[in-house]
Amino acid sequence: MKLYFEAAKFVDNDKGSLKNRVFNSKLSNSPKHVYALVISTLKYKEHIDTIIRKSRLKDVPQLKKLKVSDALLSLLVQDFLFSPKGRIQSGKHPIKEAFLLNKTRMQAELTKLKLKHKVKSVAELPLKEGFDDDETPVRWIRVNTLKTTPESLMKNAFFSKLTEVGSIEDLTSPGLIFKDKIIQNLYGLHPREKITGTQAYTHGEIIIQDRASCFPAEILNNDPSDVHVNVIDATAAPGNKTTHAASFATKNDGLVYAFERDSKRVNTLKMMCQRATGKARKNLIQAVHADFTTVNPTDFPSVTGIIVDPSCSGSGIFGRAIEDANANEQSKEETDETRLQKLAGFQFKIMKHALSFPKAHKVVYSTCSIHPHENERVVVDLLSDPEVKKAGWKLAPRDVVISSWPRRGWEEEFTSLSEDGEIRKQYAGGCVRAVPKEDGGIGFFAACFVRDKQ
Ligand code: SAM
Repeated sequence: MKLYFEAAKFVDNDKGSLKNRVFNSKLSNSPKHVYALVISTLKYKEHIDTIIRKSRLKDVPQLKKLKVSDALLSLLVQDFLFSPKGRIQSGKHPIKEAFLLNKTRMQAELTKLKLKHKVKSVAELPLKEGFDDDETPVRWIRVNTLKTTPESLMKNAFFSKLTEVGSIEDLTSPGLIFKDKIIQNLYGLHPREKITGTQAYTHGEIIIQDRASCFPAEILNNDPSDVHVNVIDATAAPGNKTTHAASFATKNDGLVYAFERDSKRVNTLKMMCQRATGKARKNLIQAVHADFTTVNPTDFPSVTGIIVDPSCSGSGIFGRAIEDANANEQSKEETDETRLQKLAGFQFKIMKHALSFPKAHKVVYSTCSIHPHENERVVVDLLSDPEVKKAGWKLAPRDVVISSWPRRGWEEEFTSLSEDGEIRKQYAGGCVRAVPKEDGGIGFFAACFVRDKQ
């Protein structure tokens, strides 16, 4: 509950910049986490107030007795109904218990609110002016070619009404669509386009997936002479990259193994894979609840391509997703530097395991972090590792790593590998980076490791 008590101080107090006030206060919780919670509450305040009013929360005797303030109530409603996790971030507490006694009423009011605004998800609810800035600049959708084709999708009732524009900057309102020039079968829409209510979405014909998050499967398969049909997604849930990789693996008895360590997330992964493949291709993806680092590489003699998108700091994520990314971290009292180093150690370990699969000749590493610790530095450590070197792994040349994407790895991070500027540029060319918002979505990093086919 401490998180909510601390955050409550900022909800109704609008004296000066919220960011400055939160980050300059002495808090026992992470300021980043408090800020994300408050900003999201303010963003949905109008809807939160409606739910509090209609479900008569302020009249609930148990909450009155506990003297729950309006600000605290708003924060609780935000986390319970509007956050990606949909839960109260606290252990047992009388306020939490009294609040949750009313969950059915609150959920019913949220359903009514969504019906009123004709939306399926809270992310599509109209917002108070000024809060749109926290949203993604573009809603990216990938056509799921396991179920349909872009041509037939564009003929359906929803898509045929959209007007095509030439750049993401032209996506100034709903009703417009942009065909991406970098990723095949990817389209950009205005973030307020009501996409989750369409049949195409509910039938799994389109998948909402950020453009940069499509880089790994695209990098793995964008050489037509080297398309991977036996693939591993080492860290798979919720499964966006898995289903994308599967869309390339449809020939010659293709099979994608998707590993996930977390017992809850593996269920989401399975659901997402079933929805994307449908009954016709139900054997294309094998979702496995396991820690990838414990999997024996020799049990997978046909796997040629691997995607490793491990847990990371999530520093490239913004808006609503930030809460999701930080939710597991907030109790840890670690400095950012210590945390980044721990993450980098885990990222190195899991990548090194991926690089030990006997027939693998292409491994794509990615994070949604902007920190070099988790990106170029992990790559440098792997390239310097004697076993990795002995196994013949190198960083791929730029021409096979989405060469038209202008933002590459940071050259200066490769200094320990070479003093020659040209060589450092080649290393950086084997990596891509995306800057949050500026590049049309989340911050991202990907690097492609290759070796001769064995
Ligand atoms: N690639 C996913 C996508 O695009 O939908 C997102 C992956 S998310 C960044 C990282 C996932 O890796 C988390 O679900 C986490 O539980 C899982 N994970 C972390 N360590 C793992 C391990 N050793 N083995 C398998 N899964 C792991």
